[in-house]
Amino acid sequence: MKQIWAPWRLEYIASADEQEGCVFCKAVEADDDEAALVVHRGPDATVILNKYPYASGHLMVAPNRHVGDFGELTDEEALQVHRLAQSGIGALAQVYEPQGYNAGWNLGRIAGAGVVDHVHLHVVPRWAGDTNFMPVLADVKVIPEHLLETRQRLADAWPS
Ligand SMILES: [Zn+2]
Repeated sequence: MKQIWAPWRLEYIASADEQEGCVFCKAVEADDDEAALVVHRGPDATVILNKYPYASGHLMVAPNRHVGDFGELTDEEALQVHRLAQSGIGALAQVYEPQGYNAGWNLGRIAGAGVVDHVHLHVVPRWAGDTNFMPVLADVKVIPEHLLETRQRLADAWPS
């Protein structure tokens, strides 16, 4: 059972290069928040729900600007990405009451980044016992309705 590790992620990483355009830029430019899974928009950064989540409520915060070099983030972008991560954790706490979070940057394909040329911060809610991943696998089967509902609940719970 421990060998089951988000196999859909591998499929996603393998096909990420073949996708047209940048998923983050598409979300920034999208008119339809629901279709783009956008949870919250800021002037310098945007929060979207991960379509290939490690857990329910897995968020990604990206600068609005297409930038692949972590060191090139402006002060405004670096600050806003982290402020939005804080708010995202606030919304997740209200909706899902997770017991902990992982927040971090995967920089480069070897580090697990599915999209390497637009940096983004992952926020993954954690619960005791979630490492067997069966709940995660179960979630995947009910996509996309589950994702749409999750997006709406987090958007509604977003701290003002
Ligand atoms: Zn981009």
